[in-house]
Amino acid sequence: MTGSGADVVVIGGGIVGTSAAAFLASAGARTVLVEREGLASGASGANSGVVQHPLDPVLADLYRSTLALYGDLAAADAGFRIGSEPAGMLYVSRDDGPVRRLGAQIGALFPDLDVGLLEGRPLALLEPTLAPGLHACRVGIGYPVAPAGSTYAYATIAERAGAAIRLGRSATVDLRGDRAVGVVVDGEPVAADAVLVAAGPWTPEALDPSGRWRPIRARWGVVVEVDLPAGPRHVLEEAEIGEAIGTAAGDRPPAFEPDEAVEDFSLVPLGAAASVGSTFLAREPDPAAWVEPLLVRASGFVPGVVDAPIRGTRSCARPQSLDGRPLVGAVPGRRGLFVCAGHGSWGISTGPGAARLVADVIRGRDVAVPAALDPGRFGGPA
Ligand SMILES: Cc1cc2nc3c(=O)[nH]c(=O)nc-3n(C[C@H](O)[C@H](O)[C@H](O)COP(=O)(O)OP(=O)(O)OC[C@H]3O[C@@H](n4cnc5c(N)ncnc54)[C@H](O)[C@@H]3O)c2cc1C
Repeated sequence: MTGSGADVVVIGGGIVGTSAAAFLASAGARTVLVEREGLASGASGANSGVVQHPLDPVLADLYRSTLALYGDLAAADAGFRIGSEPAGMLYVSRDDGPVRRLGAQIGALFPDLDVGLLEGRPLALLEPTLAPGLHACRVGIGYPVAPAGSTYAYATIAERAGAAIRLGRSATVDLRGDRAVGVVVDGEPVAADAVLVAAGPWTPEALDPSGRWRPIRARWGVVVEVDLPAGPRHVLEEAEIGEAIGTAAGDRPPAFEPDEAVEDFSLVPLGAAASVGSTFLAREPDPAAWVEPLLVRASGFVPGVVDAPIRGTRSCARPQSLDGRPLVGAVPGRRGLFVCAGHGSWGISTGPGAARLVADVIRGRDVAVPAALDPGRFGGPA
């Protein structure tokens, strides 16, 4: 590494950028993180708050490594907590077809997961606050966490290891020919040997201001947080979500439909509160307009939601890649430039695992990035 400037500049202070900065700084790299708003100001602070198995064989390794990293993070006394056992996921539906299909797919793909089908009295005994007549597939996964908890904790670890965090500053990649020589922060150059772009849905514009390279788009979600002290103990999701997003199918997730607008029920309990979601929208929504539709939909699964006091509403953008999987590693056609973004609905569950991988690539360690995550699958920037 050179003597002046930073070894690595990381653009983006979400879960991916802060965890990457923590891994890089802890390994001895002189690291600067630039975040244009506040830490966790994007989806990393406003998500539904569950670490969960993505039910995609390619992403499963990232999820497992993330869980292990969260164990280390919880032990590091940086303010992050995660349960030692999963709360359990219930995929619910009014029809038994989707529940059975999902259960069979999950069981075939992940025989190590504990999968069971429930309905009638056994389901009512397990979760008395569910609406009658539902069918459910229970899987022993799902760890509720504070939505921004891991991002703040990794920022703390990064700073403890000597990383400089610059907030309220916007950065773009500084290129000389095909080589990244650092970043430009609000007009001021900051030299670096390597640049990692982890700017979530805004990664394409930070990495290639020409606007031609756009393998990641924003997919907006609204979540309503309610008081629900005696609510479900399991994390709940509509079984059709698994089918709709295709991540349980084992093959490549379906291509992202940019104009699609979908609303699907999910509920994540944490303490006396529950986060009820969520939408999948191509454009930034007015969150207030979604409160009633989300709560009415949720009340079909958990009737008590409709009278629950509302604590607040969150809205944020998933960084959705065109094939549903993140881009992790070196940017093709650019020396010294790396990307880790596009985690879609799974960034809290897989982000640190991916960040660890890209940090190892930047440090020149002998690691293999799976071809399905290689940024080159979408070609290089202009
Ligand atoms: C409604 C909803 C619920 C979700 N629930 C879950 C869940 O329960 N579990 C789960 O695993 N995942 C969940 N996700 C997905 C998860 O939140 C995201 O995948 C993850 O937070 C993305 O992290 P990130 O660091 O890539 O991006 P972000 O959190 O978007 O962070 C990127 C950061 O980069 C900054 N930035 C952008 N451009 C620049 C620039 N030019 N210069 C400097 N800074 C810049 C932004 O301000 C932002 O802070 C959910 C998403 C949504 C929308």
